[in-house]
Amino acid sequence: MAARKRPASEGASTCSKKDCNGIIHDEDARVEVAVSLRGEPAHADSRITWQDGAPMAFHRSCWDSLLQKRASLPRDDLQRLQLAAATAEYFDSAQELRQKAQEAASLLRQSSRAICFTGAGLSTAAGLGDYRGKRGKWTLEGQGVSEAYTTVYEELRPTFGHEAVAKLVEMGKIRYVISQNADGLHHLSGIPYTKLSDVHGSAFTEYCPSCGKRYVRQEYAPEDRAEDFFAGRLPGPMPSHIKVCRGCGSNHWTGRSCEDCGQPLHDTVISFGDGLEECVLRPAFEHAAEADACLSLGSTMSIGPSNQVVLIQKGPLIVCVRQEGCAHTEIAMSFYTISWWTCWAKNMLNGRLPWIRRRRPTMRSGLLLVKSVGTFL
Ligand SMILES: [Zn+2]
Ligand SMILES: [Zn+2]
Ligand SMILES: [Zn+2]
Repeated sequence: MAARKRPASEGASTCSKKDCNGIIHDEDARVEVAVSLRGEPAHADSRITWQDGAPMAFHRSCWDSLLQKRASLPRDDLQRLQLAAATAEYFDSAQELRQKAQEAASLLRQSSRAICFTGAGLSTAAGLGDYRGKRGKWTLEGQGVSEAYTTVYEELRPTFGHEAVAKLVEMGKIRYVISQNADGLHHLSGIPYTKLSDVHGSAFTEYCPSCGKRYVRQEYAPEDRAEDFFAGRLPGPMPSHIKVCRGCGSNHWTGRSCEDCGQPLHDTVISFGDGLEECVLRPAFEHAAEADACLSLGSTMSIGPSNQVVLIQKGPLIVCVRQEGCAHTEIAMSFYTISWWTCWAKNMLNGRLPWIRRRRPTMRSGLLLVKSVGTFL
């Protein structure tokens, strides 16, 4: 078998704290960041080996000590450190991961109606970009970098993380999956739509607004040419099915017609400004209301109203994410798909699962919940 190229975040790398400069091994706790220096050179007295736009790694202890002693840093370092901190992704040490896995497994064993909530972080290993990470869409845009998206959705395959979730659903350990991802990978991993809500839609599903019939396709369903017509990148005439959505400003009509009633079909992908589909959201909230545990994977849980499922459920909330700043948790725990899978596969038989941590919603979140859910139920 040909050796596969390993991404930069795997394998040993060197700590970017100058007075450490030591090797960071796979099993070490670490922090990864990226920051655009806009071509400005580093000062000679800099305490950090800065890389322009490329991922940088730190031992977690080195990162923490830089933050703690930031008042003593040169001004340039301090400014860059603040930019970098917003992109930080945290990785647990192998030992921490094992401990948390055991803790999470014991929480799951005590539950009988667990739900799973997933976000973009679960699909980064499949090749899709996320939003807030060191190479996230919003991070890069904030740094003035815009990257063209060339994802071929039909070529994406479920990650080990998706497979693990599907296995837990099959075993009855997870009753229902609520995903914010529109990549269709949970469904492709074998979870039927009776146990899955793609709350922000799926690029493979379209539906008939007239009779309600839904179509799950093998091909990417949205009409992507619409954006190019609107922007004048494609010469006219524009196909007559393309219409500007009043919610998001894009187009949702796919150009195909319903087999039953002949009316035009609409994609299911939700953008900012669009309302969520009631028939998708309602079962998500119903299962959440009955749930006695929740695994939240690869999401900072900050996009409503779907994030409210983690608050409605009454059991422990186990969070796996690489970034800090979760809307409903004070500390984000690392979620490292490859390690997660390895650990899971190794320990499945004796029931140990590599998830992370128990958190309870705060009162402030409770208020949010009432407000948000009230408008949707
Ligand atoms: Zn170090
Ligand atoms: Zn129809
Ligand atoms: Zn729209």
